[in-house]
Parts: sequence; C-alpha cells; structure tokens
Amino acid sequence: MAKASVKGKNHTTLALDIGGTWIRAATVTHDGQLLGARKQANPATGSAAEILALCARLADEARTASPVPPSGLGVSATGPVNPQTGVVYEPPNTPAGFSGLPLGQYLRERLGLAVVVDRDVNAAALAEQRFGAAQGCSEFVYLTVSTGLGAAVMADGELMRGADGAAGELGHVVVAPDGPTCGCGRRGCLEAVAAGPAIGRAADRLARANPGSGLAQLRDSLGGAPLRGHHVSAAALDGDPDAREILAAAGAAVVSGVVDIVNVFNPQRIVLGGGVAMAQPCWIEAANAAVSQSALQPARDTARVVSAELGDNGGLLGAALLLDQPTETNRARHRRR
Ligand SMILES: [Zn+2]
Repeated sequence: MAKASVKGKNHTTLALDIGGTWIRAATVTHDGQLLGARKQANPATGSAAEILALCARLADEARTASPVPPSGLGVSATGPVNPQTGVVYEPPNTPAGFSGLPLGQYLRERLGLAVVVDRDVNAAALAEQRFGAAQGCSEFVYLTVSTGLGAAVMADGELMRGADGAAGELGHVVVAPDGPTCGCGRRGCLEAVAAGPAIGRAADRLARANPGSGLAQLRDSLGGAPLRGHHVSAAALDGDPDAREILAAAGAAVVSGVVDIVNVFNPQRIVLGGGVAMAQPCWIEAANAAVSQSALQPARDTARVVSAELGDNGGLLGAALLLDQPTETNRARHRRR
C-alpha cells in the first residue's frame, strides 16, 4: 500500500500530469497542497520534441514554488506506459507525438531529479485512495470514462500492473461484437460505445440520418463540426430525447461493465471518474442498483459504487504519490517471501 512519506513535513514532490487536452504541473506538499500550479494546452499536432520541451518547462516553473528541493518528479501520462522505463506507447486518444516518447529518461536528464512515470488512471487511483473516495480501501477499482475509458485495479493494497505494467485496460473489453470500430482495431469495445468520442459519433450518426432532429440542428449551429460528448450532455440536459437516449445507451454499457468488475475483482468500491461520468451522476445510482440486482454473491453485498472526488487535481496528486510506490526490487523481495 502507498505509505505516508517519512521524509518530514516540509518535503515536496514535483508532479506532472500529461493529458490529451492539458499538460499540468505543480509542486505537491506532503498533505496534498498544490503550489505553483501550471497548465497549458497539449499541442495536439506537436512533435515529440515539442511536447517534451513543454513538459520540462512547466515542471521547471512549478519547481520554483517549492520551499525545499523536491524529492523527485512523478508523471501521470495518458495511454499505455511502461513504469520501469518511462516510455509511452501509442495511446489511441492522444497526439501522434506521444508514441514511443522516452519521457522518464528525458525528464530525468533535463531536470536532474528521480522520475517515475505511470498511467494516468493508476495515478488517479492512488490519489483517490489517499485523499478522495477510496480512503481506507485496499481493494477497489478506479474506472474513468472520459476521452478514453480505462481502469486501475488496486488489489491487496497494491496496483495490479501485469507483466508489462499495462493491466487495467477495461475499455477494450468487447461489449457489442457488432458495434462501432474501436481505436484499438476491434469492434464494440466498451470505450467505442461509452467514452466521450463514441457518444459524439453516435450523435453525429443520428443527426445525419435524421436531418429534422434537434441534434442535426445543433450540428448545423456548430457549422457542421462533429458533435462531441459535452455537446450531447448539454443537449440531454436541455431535454433533447435523442441525446438522452444516446447517453442512456452509454450509461447502460458502463453500468454493465461495473457489474463485470464486481464479479471479476470483488472490490470494496468502484470509484467512477472522468469528465463523461462526472457529467452523469445518475450512472452511480444505476450502477449501485445493477450491482445489487445482478452481481454475484457475496461480492454484490460488499461493493459500493461512488463518484471520484478529486476532479482535475487527481492527476497531479496521484503523480506525486507515484514516488512512494514500491519499487520493482521491493516487489520482487516481497514475492520471494
Ligand atoms: Zn478497443
């Protein structure tokens, strides 16, 4: 389990959160305060060199807010990451410049600090466990529904990582074999049905098929630009029946996925986060009802679905906590016992 640091009350950690939309940096204190927070749009068409330079600059700027030299840099990065090497692999929802980025090595050399890189979902799970909705839990699953859909599994107080640090890609479990093609190449993945871009594409299909619909009018008012998940959420709030139906279908897929998670992992909690899920608080109630009705006993009596509590700060707080995670050497020692 992530342990409170014993480095003293003044100790700080530098944190970097690299998302598909924003890159954030801050100095994080031992009790979770963010100092010198910085945020800049991710240059979506940027080269690897441009993205790396921006990451280093924001981290450097945030470092100046630290009252003492930070103990290291934790990096929360979108997409598959090898936490041992700090290399990022072809994330399906992010700029091309990300693929193969040697993030860890570059930042270590550039900033002169110890660097730990991990998946954004793992970082968010650590943050919720320490400061948010999963406090006191050693068995939980953090599920995010946003531009992508993914999960982090905390089992026996430790993140489940798999052989390559890539475990937890629950967004690529197929829920509709004849459904839309996913960024990973298969059809009907949960991500291709329920993540923000999937919701936008479903609304676009409906708008094209039905030019008299409210969604078609909305599309026209945007100059024909593709609809996005947040457009659909706003239209649903305004009472558009098609938008409501699309979100209900996405919600049903997520709720079904939550029941699967309960059956497979027997967690104490499922923490639901990410922009799409946070905009649909009714999914929490629906998921709890489905778990009590449809999950297997005894897991269904224990599991509780709750909303993430840390919002946009979760990535930075979690990135800072990555430095307290057990090293591979420690894990190997533990396994030999
Ligand atoms: Zn997929």
